Amino acid sequence: MNLHEFQAKALLQDYGLPLPAGAMAATAAEAVTAARGIGAGPWVVKAQIHAGGRGKAGGVISAASLAEVEQAAARLLGSRLATAQTGADGRLVKQVYVESACAIAREIYLAVLVDRSAGKVALMASAAGGAEIEAESAADPQSVHRVFAAGSGALDPDELQALTGHLGLAGEAADQTVRIAQTLSKAFVDCDASLIEVNPLAVTDDGEVVAVDVKMILDDNALFRHPKFEALRDQDEEDPVELEAKRYELNFVNLEGDIGCVVNGAGLALATLDLLKEYGGAPANFMDIRPVATRDQVATGFEMILANPRLKAILVNIYGGGVLRCDTIAEGIALACSRTPLAVPLIVRAAGTNMEICRKILTGQRIAAQFADDMGSAAALAVDASKREAA
Ligand code: GDP
Ligand code: MN
Repeated sequence: MNLHEFQAKALLQDYGLPLPAGAMAATAAEAVTAARGIGAGPWVVKAQIHAGGRGKAGGVISAASLAEVEQAAARLLGSRLATAQTGADGRLVKQVYVESACAIAREIYLAVLVDRSAGKVALMASAAGGAEIEAESAADPQSVHRVFAAGSGALDPDELQALTGHLGLAGEAADQTVRIAQTLSKAFVDCDASLIEVNPLAVTDDGEVVAVDVKMILDDNALFRHPKFEALRDQDEEDPVELEAKRYELNFVNLEGDIGCVVNGAGLALATLDLLKEYGGAPANFMDIRPVATRDQVATGFEMILANPRLKAILVNIYGGGVLRCDTIAEGIALACSRTPLAVPLIVRAAGTNMEICRKILTGQRIAAQFADDMGSAAALAVDASKREAA
């Protein structure tokens, strides 16, 4: 789950992260009140959307007077902000965060994330922070430094000291950065985050180190341990299909392709996506039907796939086990097709418990399915069908 910048900042402030003073506003008048409350200007007015790249897209506006704060808020609120990360449609700006502007002398990049190949939480840092971090780190991978955390989130003080040296920091700024790194790493583990990114971490003209921008993502699979975080969810920023799927306890992720995938088991689902890619196709979604799924839940999942305007073919690749059997999935598909007509080719590979009944249910319901005996031929058929439909 993504957090807004202001939410991440409020959360991390409680851990002691040094931040500029700021306040939220949903109207231009509120923005002026917020600015007044913060103190003397200048201020920065920042669009709150779940995407980065706002600065370059005009979503971060400096304001030297209260009149400018009002203008900036009026310009941003109610507008759609399209950044390099949003796609052309952009996102509706419903709120702005008004912050005390700081005089930035240096911009550092600091992030805590899970390093999957090392199997550890890692702190990543670069002296080349700011809006060009992606380009800079791609051009010079050596500029990105890494320190691994212990299971508790603690970072080794000597390694951190060496890191600040690599970043070109000394004295009090280096000490502050060490404390900030420890704070972020502890918060990361405490909150079950999957990413905390501070970019830029600014060293001000006065030598203070402050987090000017924070992006934080919480691990959905650990949210049950933090019921209070549920209030931070902004449903408007989430994929409506994925939200609906969550209500039906389906594991569903929208992808860019055109072949809908109905699979049980996350491992089989990933293998199926890989196979489609291997055959030159493009999956429209990841969907893992859990063993305890009911016919109705399967039907809902299938209808989510049918609702995708890009859809050109559907691949059903299921393995009937002891709990979820092939016939339950077939009944779900049949139910969905009775409500929403099937307009694209359907390729079915069903193996395991009740595979024959699955075939009987689908043919009995006059569902035009093409049956394949193994995964490989099913994937090849689905890719062919999607290309034919697209032509
Ligand atoms: P992003 O573009 O979505 O990552 O939004 P940021 O919050 O990082 O803002 C973009 C850029 O605006 C930053 O990299 C800074 O260079 C600049 N910026 C943001 N806040 C301030 C501020 O208080 N003072 C100054 N001088 N620059 C700022
Ligand atoms: Mn940023």
